[in-house]
Amino acid sequence: MYGNYNQGMRCPVCNTAIDLDKPYFASSAFGHRYSDAAIHWSCFYSMNDWEEFLERSFNISVSEIESNPYWNILYKTKDYMISSDSVNVNVQLKPGGMSFSTHISKWPENLGLFIGKLDINYLSENQRKEVAVLLKQATRYQIKN
Ligand SMILES: [Zn+2]
Repeated sequence: MYGNYNQGMRCPVCNTAIDLDKPYFASSAFGHRYSDAAIHWSCFYSMNDWEEFLERSFNISVSEIESNPYWNILYKTKDYMISSDSVNVNVQLKPGGMSFSTHISKWPENLGLFIGKLDINYLSENQRKEVAVLLKQATRYQIKN
């Protein structure tokens, strides 16, 4: 058997196992029939409401940070959020449902490295561009110590 399979981790769309070594979409619980699950990216974009799904998933991430006493939102647009617990910095993107974390001392250099190494071939060309543009915008945010 190839890949890293965790028994019980099944994609709710196609009902086959998830290979944990490959990119997959992991969602929080928010009352959608496919929420709180790992979903193959190819299956994700076959859902007719994937845009709404990303919107709701992003909003959940925002409210989780808002209610977390250790994390603060440093900056937020409709497409991404930069948050920190004063040790690490996290960028959560709405497009692609992706998030990136780095130690605060490596901000924004490490975020720049992510842009070059993104394994996002499940995204369309336009989505890929959107993600790269948003990450570049995020690297301009200056963290004050
Ligand atoms: Zn699937």
